Amino acid sequence: MDSDSRLIFEKGYNHPHNNFIPKMDIEYENIDDLIPKTLQREDLLIPDIPEIEIVRHFLNLSQKTYGVDTGIYPLGSCTMKYNPKINEVIARLPDFSKLHPLQEENLGALELIIELSKILCQVTGMDGFTFQPAAGAHGELTGLLMIKKYFETMNLKKNAIIVPESSHGTNPASAKMAGFSIIKIRSNKDGEIPIDLLKYAMEGDNVAGIMLTNPNTLGLFERNIKDITKIVHDYGGLCYYDGANLNPMLGICRPGDMGFDIIHLNLHKTFSTPHGGGGPGSGPVGVKKEFIPFLPNPCIIPNNNGFQYREYSENSIGRIKSFLGNFGVLVRAYAYLLALGAQGLRRVGEISVLNANYLQVQLQKKYHAPYNRTCQHEFVLSDKNLPNDITTEDIAKRIIDYGIYAPTIYFPLIVSGAMMIEPTETESKASLDNFVNVMLKIYEEARSNPELIKNAPHNTPIKRLDAVLAARKPILHD
Ligand SMILES: *Cc1c(COP(=O)(O)O)cnc(C)c1O
Repeated sequence: MDSDSRLIFEKGYNHPHNNFIPKMDIEYENIDDLIPKTLQREDLLIPDIPEIEIVRHFLNLSQKTYGVDTGIYPLGSCTMKYNPKINEVIARLPDFSKLHPLQEENLGALELIIELSKILCQVTGMDGFTFQPAAGAHGELTGLLMIKKYFETMNLKKNAIIVPESSHGTNPASAKMAGFSIIKIRSNKDGEIPIDLLKYAMEGDNVAGIMLTNPNTLGLFERNIKDITKIVHDYGGLCYYDGANLNPMLGICRPGDMGFDIIHLNLHKTFSTPHGGGGPGSGPVGVKKEFIPFLPNPCIIPNNNGFQYREYSENSIGRIKSFLGNFGVLVRAYAYLLALGAQGLRRVGEISVLNANYLQVQLQKKYHAPYNRTCQHEFVLSDKNLPNDITTEDIAKRIIDYGIYAPTIYFPLIVSGAMMIEPTETESKASLDNFVNVMLKIYEEARSNPELIKNAPHNTPIKRLDAVLAARKPILHD
């Protein structure tokens, strides 16, 4: 930014104000005696602004934003649930937060990772975990590099992978990054993978296996999941499970039992780390026994007495992040799991599904639901029945006027004008009812006063943006 635009953007330059702090009274002959010439600058644009103005500035900004702590955040595929504050307190305890990964006395930290590993193995049915990946997509890349390495050690050339149309967008992207070509499979009318197409795709010699999101991005459970993994294995392929949306499965079913070889989780969705602000996150990758040699170095691996620290393994894909991962996120996950226990975890799964189905049934009275069946933790509506050419985007803008964050829109791509709604288990019935009332009211407005919706939002500091222009030519000052 050049200095002119800084002057416009920043507060405090050239504004006279009351400053009660006395001027500096250090006496010196020559400034060079105090500060070496190399450290001096000709001009330094430090804002000259009183404390009260800066406090008001940031508090006002914070009140213009929206988060899970402000209200319901039904952003499908993102699991924006409330994260208990106690886990924040625990992660900030100096014994955790002030640890340095290179200090020798960090056995407590290693023990925490080992214990977390054990619990996640129980929850998912896997045999070992790496915590290095910093996000879900990073976990996918890690898992796919392991699949690649696995076939390389067997001298098999498998460079293609099946990614169903209903998978999360990061799946094909990660597969591509890992050097695979993508075989896309269309979903059938129930939103699931057609078995005949799967068999057909697996017939290729170079197919390494499948990457599957379950529940898929339609919020639907793949009912043939065991057949799917069996078919892929019968053809000599491997099964990768995208477990970023594990919430509805918690305590009810496990990817390991479904037949998956390698999975990733999103601790920053399911296990109590807030997200949406850019991190830090954690996308641990879990594997069945035979893939443990391929886990990144270093890692914590199971042995006869429990788990042990492994510095190096010949077949490892190598290091994909510094040290053992984002430790603070692991502390939150561990505290969360201990507090919930097995029963609490199951209840999280059950209520997340119940809440989503409650909303789906209520909203279906007016909105079109393309897949009319029991959903998991989220469901998809479309713009099909909307009156007066009202679009999904119009609904998303209008809902902001009612103080609610919009659902995920225009995703998944297989539903035209999709609205993907995930209430999560932490919303009360009153909050869900409020959401339903607002959505039905907006439907009514769409019929009776479409202009009101087309020009929404009305109550926000910034009205409807030209999204393309805003991304390409952002104006960052007023
Ligand atoms: C969020 C999500 C991802 C990606 O996770 P990031 O941490 O954002 O990289 C992958 N798959 C699914 C199903 C997701 O919901």
